[in-house]
Amino acid sequence: MSRSVLVTGGNRGIGLAIARAFAEAGDKVAITYRSGEPPAGFLAVKCDITDPEQVEQAYKEIEEKQGAVEVLVANAGVTRDQLLLRMSEDDFTSVVDTNLTGTFRVVKRASRAMLRARKGRIVLISSVVGLLGSAGQANYAASKAGLVGFARSIARELGSRNITCNVVAPGFVDTDMTRVLTDEQRENITKQVPLARYAQPEEIAASVRFLASDEAAYITGAVIPVDGGLGMGH
Ligand code: NDP
Repeated sequence: MSRSVLVTGGNRGIGLAIARAFAEAGDKVAITYRSGEPPAGFLAVKCDITDPEQVEQAYKEIEEKQGAVEVLVANAGVTRDQLLLRMSEDDFTSVVDTNLTGTFRVVKRASRAMLRARKGRIVLISSVVGLLGSAGQANYAASKAGLVGFARSIARELGSRNITCNVVAPGFVDTDMTRVLTDEQRENITKQVPLARYAQPEEIAASVRFLASDEAAYITGAVIPVDGGLGMGH
């Protein structure tokens, strides 16, 4: 059955791969974008998740054009790396505002219709560094770790209404976000990954689709690593 899916930040990178995976399975897929031309084949809504008003408008448009969101993938995220002593207040709060508070905004808005429908699937995109930590990424790691506590609280709050909330924690994925790294940094990272390579965005998308499928109906509050073994044991 075709469901109404929303993928935030679905215009590129991991989000786009996730949006494609749902569309290929026959779902109706809305994506958010902030600027430029969004990719074709989806209901593209302009939305910056740091702005509650834009979030509200995006949901209204999606509800009107493809129906209330039944599957939400909160994928939009940013990095602003800096060592702690040089990290400004704004470096910290802006990353948290996008990755954690932005996720709160979209999940809260989606939960309204999900509660009414007594069903729903929520998947949050965290990161291996949320639990592993990462020098120069205190802001990013804190925001991504925060998603785990957030998801598990939502899972407890909404579980009795047949709404699941899970986290996917990718390792290093080949996207714009990691293309800024130098060859040396990439090599160092690859050395620490048991599978000895970066992930392709489609490999993250596959687990997200699984968590939103009927097969995953009894999985909630889980953190699924898709990291080539990098975070094993945490
Ligand atoms: P990209 O940098 O390629 O894409 C980021 C996406 O997030 C873009 O679609 C961007 O939209 C969107 N976005 C950023 N800020 C906002 C905002 N304020 N409002 C709405 N949308 C926003 O990153 P990836 O595809 O690599 O990352 C996707 C997710 O996966 C992120 O949450 C990231 O933290 C996580 N992740 C990535 C890993 C990696 O190695 N790449 C590893 C682990 C986790 P726009 O095009 O408008 O900028």
